[in-house]
Amino acid sequence: MSFDFDLDGVLESVKKHGAKRVLLQFPDGLKPFSTEIVNKLEERLPGVEFVISGEHSYGSCDIAEDEAELVSADLIIHFGHSPYTWYFPKFPTTFIEVKADFKMSEDLINSLLSYIDKYSAKSVSISSTLQYANVIQELRRRLEEKVKVYVGKPSIPVMKDGQILGCDLKAVNINADLNVHVSGGMFHALGVGLATGKPTVKVDPDLNKVQDISPEVYRVLKIRYAKVMEAMYASNWIIVQGLKVGQNRPYMVKYLKRGLESKNRKVYIITSKLLTKDVLRNVDRSYIDAYVVTSCPRIPTDDLYDFEKPVLTPGEAKMIINEKLDTYIFPW
Ligand code: SF4
Repeated sequence: MSFDFDLDGVLESVKKHGAKRVLLQFPDGLKPFSTEIVNKLEERLPGVEFVISGEHSYGSCDIAEDEAELVSADLIIHFGHSPYTWYFPKFPTTFIEVKADFKMSEDLINSLLSYIDKYSAKSVSISSTLQYANVIQELRRRLEEKVKVYVGKPSIPVMKDGQILGCDLKAVNINADLNVHVSGGMFHALGVGLATGKPTVKVDPDLNKVQDISPEVYRVLKIRYAKVMEAMYASNWIIVQGLKVGQNRPYMVKYLKRGLESKNRKVYIITSKLLTKDVLRNVDRSYIDAYVVTSCPRIPTDDLYDFEKPVLTPGEAKMIINEKLDTYIFPW
């Protein structure tokens, strides 16, 4: 599979900003292409210097504004993500979409149709990540021959219809009988399953396969409910406030702190840029019972699910504050 890095779009942005030094930021999966992209850009933009950010880049919530200042760049080119739902960078930044050259084969369509039969689905909700948003409409036409198809509007206009982020699943229709999601890996598809609690099949362009991930969704949901139950009567909480530019959510921290305190819980707040088990272990004490992470809500479900104390998402903490466990809230 090849990718279109829209170098014309990069050229236009560099010229428009009159930039002489540009910081290029790639998601980790696209970093192996970065030096070749620099070769191509240098040919077309002599006199402009390009610096590749080697730091992890997890999403458009994580724009390298401090790095750009430190290396005296005039512009950030951020590849592979659209602007974040809840934050736009203060540093001059251009978001460059990277389209994957992927088409749905007849085998993949037939495989999807067999899952529609398996689940007796009368309706499906189609979603994808930005890279594969170009296949959504074709997929919709094909599946509409058999079922009702929903392709939801995203949270903000710069995102495509049906496009989701790991923490923004607004484009997924929770009332559909079956989710069809297009992206590589488990991260986004799992999010779709957790947000809906519905059977979920994934079209994986990397594997050129359709996979039913519903058993994994239900396994993770059970783990998440167990964590919520464990934290239900926790007395002493730590709220983690994010320090990455788009992950700092002071209003959410305030809301959760007030909510927990109104239930007579003691709350401490810690800040963290890159949250790991070690960060929590450094502050942990025997009387701390539970944690809630407001930076990236996927850290509790994907990275810290096996931490020795419950680490909750904001949605899970809300379930406890509201004392309503019947509907699993994900992620906020
Ligand atoms: S899921 Fe996490 S890393 Fe991805 S956009 Fe949301 S906050 Fe950022």
